[in-house]
Amino acid sequence: MNRDCVFCKIVSGEIPSKKIYEDDTVYVFEDINPVTPIHWLFVPKKHLSGAGEITSENSDAVAKIFETAASLANEHAVGDYRIVTNCGKGAGQTVFHLHFHLLAGRQLGEMV
Ligand code: 5GP
Ligand code: ZN
Repeated sequence: MNRDCVFCKIVSGEIPSKKIYEDDTVYVFEDINPVTPIHWLFVPKKHLSGAGEITSENSDAVAKIFETAASLANEHAVGDYRIVTNCGKGAGQTVFHLHFHLLAGRQLGEMV
């Protein structure tokens, strides 16, 4: 738990969120400012600042996130989707707790 981190506060329930799913490792919720009809955020419960901190010691949480994404996408029949993570300010990262965006619900354009 990082006291200054908005996503740690969402995971702990201190800040409310529209939860899609949670288990021991992963928390999934709706983005507050969706850019697609379906826009979910997948975060590890344990704080990591971003993709640049993924190591062999903690990558099990990342695998779990992708397993969960596939499972929830099927369960909710979201159709085709994109999963993306921004690593660093220059890449558009604004919240420095590792998260993966799942974008779906409309035809998606090119990545950049
Ligand atoms: P980033 O720009 O770091 O890749 O993505 C951060 C995302 O978190 C943004 O899409 C933003 O809308 C979302 N976000 C920021 N603060 C909150 C919040 O308090 N609640 C929710 N549900 N989403 C948030
Ligand atoms: Zn955090």
